[in-house]
Amino acid sequence: MKNFQPPTTLSYWERETFFLHWDVVVIGSGIVGLSAAIRLKELQPNLRVVVLERGVLPFGASTRNAGFACFGSMTELLDDLKKQSESEVWALVERRWRGLQRLRKRVGEARMQYENLGGYELFRPEEGLTFEECIAHLEIFNQIINNITGFDHAYQIADERITDFGFKKVKNLIVNTLEGQLHTGKMMETLLQIAAEKGIKFLNGLEIKHIESGKDKVRIHTVENWELQANKVLVTTNGFAQQLFPDLEVLPARNQVLITQPISGLRIKGAFHYDRGYFYFRDVDGRILLGGGRNLAAQTEQTDEFDTTELIRNALQQLLKEVILHDQTVEIDTWWSGILGLGEQKKPIVKEVKPNVYVAVRLGGMGVAIGSLVGEEGAEQILDVKSEI
Ligand SMILES: Cc1cc2nc3c(=O)[nH]c(=O)nc-3n(C[C@H](O)[C@H](O)[C@H](O)COP(=O)(O)OP(=O)(O)OC[C@H]3O[C@@H](n4cnc5c(N)ncnc54)[C@H](O)[C@@H]3O)c2cc1C
Repeated sequence: MKNFQPPTTLSYWERETFFLHWDVVVIGSGIVGLSAAIRLKELQPNLRVVVLERGVLPFGASTRNAGFACFGSMTELLDDLKKQSESEVWALVERRWRGLQRLRKRVGEARMQYENLGGYELFRPEEGLTFEECIAHLEIFNQIINNITGFDHAYQIADERITDFGFKKVKNLIVNTLEGQLHTGKMMETLLQIAAEKGIKFLNGLEIKHIESGKDKVRIHTVENWELQANKVLVTTNGFAQQLFPDLEVLPARNQVLITQPISGLRIKGAFHYDRGYFYFRDVDGRILLGGGRNLAAQTEQTDEFDTTELIRNALQQLLKEVILHDQTVEIDTWWSGILGLGEQKKPIVKEVKPNVYVAVRLGGMGVAIGSLVGEEGAEQILDVKSEI
């Protein structure tokens, strides 16, 4: 049998019904694209909105991440404070917190299996100074988090839990009691369902190669040389954004992940950060999901190609064996990778890049938390309205 080849020209019906006359075209159906499209329809129910996606699924980061509903572990915030001003760092924490509340409300906790099990940070014996630095900031961080969330004592020392979890080569543990975890697949499935219920259209399998911003119409060209037309376009392709806009300050970064087969009597419950957050793991369906290690090969991992590498696979397996599931034999079920969009500044970009063409990109490792808000901000820029959220 011959492989399917799409036709080179569109029929009149295809062109008129699916390719022309859109009010807004959203490119990319990750969490940002879907949140933007939903917000557009909430604000203007009669708007004709289509989401274009090159994959059969949103193959970027949103269906491939770890599902941490996190807004800041202590070492991450201390690192951020060395690079950005206090007001910028805490403003981002607030956006992550608000974004998570937005997501929980929109999707519903049960539908995405949200669990508030806490976000833990592990410290090795040789990280004593880092741990001391965290302890010195515990009180002030808790005060600030209280101002943002209304909750007391978010960060707590949790050393007594090291034995419960069964970790080895770990000396200290700090928990952020307000953090949780969710089922990424179910989150995205629900967002897709909400979007469909609102009358948002989807065209999957369409890769956009070029956007031409005209006087009264934006023309969107696909790799097949088909053309779509819209009044406005919102690009939410995140780690792939430079393929359309090479000057945009968003660099791709690959993250590799493994998931084990189910483990009987698994004692680990929660979301965990290791080595200042370069590695992360959690329990899911009685298994361990573990990812990270990008810092071991920063150059190689600065790519938008999905793949796993021997170096990082070995590092993840070693961590699993020596620290997380010490002395237990576990089988790996599967490996995958996802693509992040990063920048010098840990801050999303939401702006108009050409007349009537907008971007909402650069979500870093925070998209589960801020993706809802960033998408909505993109939608609001397009319609020139200010949020009432
Ligand atoms: C392994 C991994 C673990 C992570 N863990 C967490 C976590 O635990 N918590 C957290 O908050 N964040 C996490 N993140 C980050 C989070 O997943 C992302 O920030 C978020 O999903 C970004 O969403 P997005 O919609 O901006 O981009 P994406 O989900 O990447 O969506 C972009 C979409 O655009 C499509 N696209 C690209 N180019 C084109 C084109 N030319 N034409 C048409 N379509 C195109 C892609 O196929 C893709 O579906 C993780 C990321 C990875 C990779």
